[in-house]
Amino acid sequence: MRRWLISGTLVLAVLLGIVWWGGPLEFILGGALINAGYRLQDRLPSYDFNHAELTATQVWNEFLRQNRMASSVRTLFPRSSRHPVVAMVTCMDGRLDTNEIAGDTRRYYYIIRTAGSVLAEKEEEMLELAVENGVKVVVFTTHTDCAAEKAAQDPAQRAKYPQLTRAVSERRIRLQEFLVRPLIQERIRQGELLVKLMDLDTRNERAIPRDFSQP
Ligand SMILES: [Zn+2]
Repeated sequence: MRRWLISGTLVLAVLLGIVWWGGPLEFILGGALINAGYRLQDRLPSYDFNHAELTATQVWNEFLRQNRMASSVRTLFPRSSRHPVVAMVTCMDGRLDTNEIAGDTRRYYYIIRTAGSVLAEKEEEMLELAVENGVKVVVFTTHTDCAAEKAAQDPAQRAKYPQLTRAVSERRIRLQEFLVRPLIQERIRQGELLVKLMDLDTRNERAIPRDFSQP
């Protein structure tokens, strides 16, 4: 009798847990399954499973083949559209994965990716447009071991890539420029927008928030 009571209580607790915390539980379970997928794919070293060294044509053919497979799955199982609430500026470094940075594969994010997370006026306009479209948080990210930052410190690379390396040096100026745009200033003043700065550990994509006054 007592055993039945304990079992019944446990079943009831699980059912109540699913009802009350169904969303967060499903989210964590989804993340675990996505990570299981990463574990399966990450260890496969050959891009097309046939060649160690590929020609440009072989890369292109494999790219198309993978797209056809992925898009046919998406046709069968469409995903939900979301209204983005975060706009993120991230370096184009291949080791960074914006889904992993956000810890979320849902479509709540506008992403701008440039080498070294550099901005020009057009990117500032893109971000302002995102804010007009309902974004509540803009996040500027930099990351450890950034090739664009290293290039900006190297005279030979500065001579070879003058625009990019200058843009890396001017990153902070562009940020300040963005912060004082009239719409951005107004949204911040009204408490409708947060603009954040963070550094990412490239090894695990952990975010370290930074203050705008920090160098
Ligand atoms: Zn970088």
